[in-house]
Formats: sequence, structure tokens, C-alpha cells
Amino acid sequence: MPDAPVVRFAPSPTGFLHVGSAHSALANWLVARRAGGRFLLRIEDTDAERNRPELIENVLEMLRWLGLDWDGEPVHQSDRTDDHRAMALKLAADGQAYWCDCTAEQVQARAQERGGPPGYDGFCRDRGLERGEATALRFRRPEGTTAWTDLVRGEVSFANDSLEDFVLLRSNGSPVFLLANALDDAHMGITHVIRGEDHVNGTPKYLMILRALGLPEPVAFAHMPLLVNEGRKKLSKRRDDVSVADYRAEGFLPEGMVNYLALLGWGPPDGVEVRPVREIVDLYDLAQVNPSPAFFDRKKLLHVNAEWIRRLPLDDFVARAGAFLPHDEARAALASIGPLVQERVRTLGEVAEMVDFLWLAEPPTDEADWDKVVVRGKASGPMLDASVTELRALDDGDGWTAAAISAAVERAATTAGITKEDGSPQMAKASGPVRVATTGRRVGPPLWESLEALGRERTLVRLDAARARLG
Ligand code: GLU
Repeated sequence: MPDAPVVRFAPSPTGFLHVGSAHSALANWLVARRAGGRFLLRIEDTDAERNRPELIENVLEMLRWLGLDWDGEPVHQSDRTDDHRAMALKLAADGQAYWCDCTAEQVQARAQERGGPPGYDGFCRDRGLERGEATALRFRRPEGTTAWTDLVRGEVSFANDSLEDFVLLRSNGSPVFLLANALDDAHMGITHVIRGEDHVNGTPKYLMILRALGLPEPVAFAHMPLLVNEGRKKLSKRRDDVSVADYRAEGFLPEGMVNYLALLGWGPPDGVEVRPVREIVDLYDLAQVNPSPAFFDRKKLLHVNAEWIRRLPLDDFVARAGAFLPHDEARAALASIGPLVQERVRTLGEVAEMVDFLWLAEPPTDEADWDKVVVRGKASGPMLDASVTELRALDDGDGWTAAAISAAVERAATTAGITKEDGSPQMAKASGPVRVATTGRRVGPPLWESLEALGRERTLVRLDAARARLG
């Protein structure tokens, strides 16, 4: 890249920021930041029917959250509608576009009669119609082929006769998206058009328009792979979690999200996948992006996110997770066992469930865990009894430490006969009923530290209640 690239992200505000759009936005940002170029933002807001201006704020907020800072102020496509129309009329004036009064029904009826592919047949090409009430302006597509360099897909070329004479201005005079999109890129001096694969089919038309007008065209395109679910189907709003805002609400970190998005269709040459985006900036290369559909793998996203959670300084983790907790008491509870939780959660949203036993007066019991570990566990009754006895004997205060609690429960296991052949206590088994009785669940942070944080009084009350319930 001899000159610094100028790239853009061009969202249409028709929905919340989609992970697929965020994937393209990130690729643009990486290319710009790597080469000291510019990353511009253009809001493509010309589709009055589908456009919901209030969504622009969501898109900007999510880009900020992901750390994808843009250069300059966002521009709005609708500000340039007059220019788009003027350019189309210029094409009409020199014969590269023509007026057409065919209705959609007529176009369809003729296609059926022909028995050929649907679409416009060039009926008005040579009719010499003037602009009228119900005339649309159509592009007179030239003969030949239209080709471009696609950094992800290689050289791509389309036979022009596979395309119809497409509409530039609707009969109400409004310019179509494709025209606005191509003209704005030229106007903004975009050097690399990096966008989703769903735009590949529009690219030959885009290029024909710029070439017909003698406008500069981008040096290259890059059509990013489609994101698919485990069924290899395109991610859809109805079936899949697609909104970046939902991932944020679930407690994914922006560091994890952006790291994972970068790995969709691409991998760093040294194979180290979990790494800060500032390192990815130096490594990312569109030429290495795989054009095949990329599987949006929630398990892998969770894994990457868990890594990022573990990398946070403890106070940062506690502060960020605190935003997902209901009140200060809950936040104080988290602070008391922060490091143990940080090691075990994959999202900030999982934190509450892991520590709620510390602030809820009566934490809910997972009934499946209760049944499996307590009801069907070996010697649970004697184990709970012996634990109450041993733990009650510990001094509240200095005596209530994780080490003392662990030793007490070991003695209880021996008393209850939950032992190995050599007579030593079988702690994995023995601690199960104690854990479910005090925290409501089979899994959670390390038990001894959890009970230390829970305190002697509450631990004993819960063990008693469980013993009574077991009968
Ligand atoms: N506004 C288009 C979209 O949201 C993007 C077009 C482009 O990037 O060229 O799909």
C-alpha cells in the first residue's frame, strides 16, 4: 500500500449493530490503524422506510465500546442526495442512462413470456423516452466484463450481460442505494472498500457507475466472509444472538469480543490467538483472510472471553463485574472472594450466580444437584451431622479460616465413614453435600474460602436446614 489507506464503515441504521457488521468494521479499523490511514464513518440513511435514526446511537455506542475509534465526524449519506441525483442525470444527459416507464408487472410478465430469467429485458433502451411522471432512470450497462482486485477473494470478474440495466433513480426521483454508496466512496476518497460478502453482487454495478462517470475507483475491495451458525446457516436475528449489545449485556468484555471477532476467518501467523488488539493491528492482513463462511463459535468466544477475564487486574475485574450485581452488598460479597470467582467465570454475567449464596438470605437450591449429591450421595446425613458438630466447635473469629474449615470437614468425613481404602477421607465426595447445603449448587468457587466468607453462623444455619430437609 503506497499511500495510507482511507477506509470506511458504512452502517445502515436499520437494526442494532450486528456481529457481522462489527466484523467488517473491525477489519476496516485494523487496516487503517496498521498503515496509519484513516477510518471514516458514513451512516447510510437513505432508505426512509427502513431507516430508524434512533439506532444510529446504538451503532456508535457499540463501536466505542469495542474500541473502534473513527476519524473525523460521521457523515450522513442523506446529506448528499442532491449530488447523487445530479450524477444520475448526468448519465442520462450523455446517454449512459435512459428513462423507462415499465411497471414491475410488465417486466415480470415479459420475463414469463420469454421463459428466461426474471429481470428487466432492456425494453426501453432505444425508445428515447423523456422523463415523465412515472419514469425511472436505468443504467445502460456496457458490453464486456467488470473485474476488480479483491484482497480476500482474488481477482473477481462478472460478465456484464449477466446484469440487467438496473435502476439509478426511482420514478419518485430518489436515488437507489447502490448509486449513493458508490458515489459517496468516490467523494470520500475511499481507497479500500472492506465490507461483507453480501455486497459482492453489487460491486460490478458499483464499478460500472464510477467508470461511466470517470470517477476514481478504490484501489481494491475486500469482501469479508459471511458469519454462519453451527448449522452453517447465515447468522439470523431470529435464530441467533447477533447483536453486539446483547453480548455486552451478557457480560462479554470488549477485549474478548474484539479479539474473537478478529479471529473469524483469520488467524495470527504465530498461532497465538488470545492477544490484545494492539498486537493484532500489527499482524492483521486481509490477504490471509479466508473467504469461506466463518463459524461464529460461541464456545470459542466464551473461551477467549474467559482468558480476558483472567487477565484483568483484580480491582478492575471486581469493578466491571460489580456492574452486573444488584446492590452494594452483592458487590462487597464479590470483593471478599474476587480472585476465586475471577478464575472460574467466562462472562461477567456468570458472576452473580457464583456468589449469590453470599448475599441471599436463602439461596435457591438447584434441585437436580440436591437430588444427585445429597439425596443419593453416600452417607450424606451422617456427613451433614458430623460437619455441623465439627464446624460448631470452631471458634467464630480467628478460628473461622479456610484451613480450619477444611480440616474440620475432613474430620467429619472420617466420622461419617466417607473414606478411601487406606482410611483417609474421600474429600471430593464428602464435601459435596456441604457445598450444596451451603451454596445451593454443586459447582462454585473453592468451598473452604466460600464458607470462610459466608461466616460461621450462616454456614451452620444452612447445614442444619439441609439436614432437616433430608430427614
Ligand atoms: N450500508 C451497507 C450495509 O449496512 C454497507 C455497504 C457497504 O459497506 O458498502 O450493509
